[in-house]
Amino acid sequence: MAVERTLSIIKPDATEKNVTGAIIKKFEDAGLRVVAQKRLHMSKDMAGKFYEVHAERPFYDELTTFMSRSPVSVQVLEAENAVALHRDVMGATNPADAAAGTVRAEFADSVGENSVHGSDSLENAAIEIAFFFKDDEIVG
Ligand code: ADP
Ligand code: MG
Repeated sequence: MAVERTLSIIKPDATEKNVTGAIIKKFEDAGLRVVAQKRLHMSKDMAGKFYEVHAERPFYDELTTFMSRSPVSVQVLEAENAVALHRDVMGATNPADAAAGTVRAEFADSVGENSVHGSDSLENAAIEIAFFFKDDEIVG
């Protein structure tokens, strides 16, 4: 296994509930290290660009409206095997299917408002990290 970096977003439902720190604690407890972080309020246009891969899905408009509703916290997380480890801590996309103790089981409201985003491959992690951060903003 190699040290990897992955992109994490704490979504508007979670920042509205003031559980940013509680979610970061779950990541840190699992061994993921925050090496870059910022809080921003995405425009619907920016959210649309980030989720462009889902543009043809029926929930695209709902998703981009939701992601631009309130601020998000965006992190680069670093660890051995970070992409898969982060997905494990997040839990399944639908919180009804998420294992006990995962972020989505504990904090998410629905399949749409599911508290966190995480890159699904090392290749996409690099693309998503570059979407939000310049190289010199990553300090791990
Ligand atoms: P994940 O975030 O677990 O990688 P996907 O990449 O499949 O899941 O979907 C991206 C995001 O789109 C989800 O996290 C969720 O916010 C939203 N989404 C996925 N499926 C649905 C759905 N059936 N209805 C509404 N929103 C959805
Ligand atoms: Mg995904």
